[in-house]
Amino acid sequence: QAKMQGPGNYRIFATEMADRINRNFRYEQDLKNSLETELFSLVYQAKVKAGGSIVGLEALCRWQHPDDGMVPPDEFISLAEESNLILALSEQVFHLALSQLARWREAGIRLVPVSINVSGRQLLSESFVPFLHEALLKYGIEGRLLELEITEGVLVSDIDRCIEVLSKLKALGVAISVDDFGTGYSSLSYLKRLPIDVLKIDRSFIEECDSVSEDAKICETIINLARNLELTTVAEGVETQSQLAFLQSHGCDLYQGYYFHRPLPAAQVKGLLDEHGQLQPQGADEIGS
Ligand code: C2E
Ligand code: MG
Ligand code: MG
Ligand code: MG
Repeated sequence: QAKMQGPGNYRIFATEMADRINRNFRYEQDLKNSLETELFSLVYQAKVKAGGSIVGLEALCRWQHPDDGMVPPDEFISLAEESNLILALSEQVFHLALSQLARWREAGIRLVPVSINVSGRQLLSESFVPFLHEALLKYGIEGRLLELEITEGVLVSDIDRCIEVLSKLKALGVAISVDDFGTGYSSLSYLKRLPIDVLKIDRSFIEECDSVSEDAKICETIINLARNLELTTVAEGVETQSQLAFLQSHGCDLYQGYYFHRPLPAAQVKGLLDEHGQLQPQGADEIGS
């Protein structure tokens, strides 16, 4: 590695390491304080059909750091997992998402399911299912309005325990999605054992699916696999018309990415749902049913 060549470069490398360790140490303390002072929020990214109609939203966590501004989740989720803060943080995420759903409902918006990213520690913790059950009741939200995104690594880490937990979640009506599918180096046998509903094709395969034949074939294979197993496919990170055209021609079900919508604060999502003709007077859902 370039960074390792020569004593001068080593010094730079060592300094970077030290900076990182210091920052992580500081952030751990800051995370704790921020949980108390509610500095976490959610943005929502739409999941759409090829024609553009919005059929779901993914909640993504944001941290407004008191000094450093917006810190992206890739920089704090793993830190929160290493310290014990992930459980408290995750619970806050669920409260934020469910209270938002309740507010949208009150405003007369026809709700679409919201998916939430769940870390391994959270999914496998004893308190997770009871917590979620209570939270759904508290906000009056049906389980079918919630989807959980879980990565392959977590699903295969303890498959028997996952079968147990996912079955309970399914009983609550909650859907299960495999996030970043194809990057987990895992066997496929978990797909037949676990009650899964959705495969999300990892962005790394989408990026060049319209130009690199290996990526094209991987996407095609995942879509066919999902179809044969009767799972829904979502392509994540769709940025161009050409990627969309390729994926659509192979029968991908749903799309997410900057080409359609960036993650947005709740207030703007409301406008989006409006724009796409999904705003209905309260109770309209019930008419005729
Ligand atoms: P993810 O669940 O795979 O989410 C997709 C990430 O890709 C998001 O990054 C999203 O903003 C980004 N993205 C969406 N469309 C595009 C696109 O077209 N191009 C590009 N370049 N990027 C796109 P974000 O919000 O920074 O989140 C990163 C990861 O952090 C997530 O990956 C998820 O694993 C984790 N995460 C986010 N929120 C939470 C949370 O509340 N709890 C947990 N446990 N993890 C979370
Ligand atoms: Mg996700
Ligand atoms: Mg993903
Ligand atoms: Mg990802």
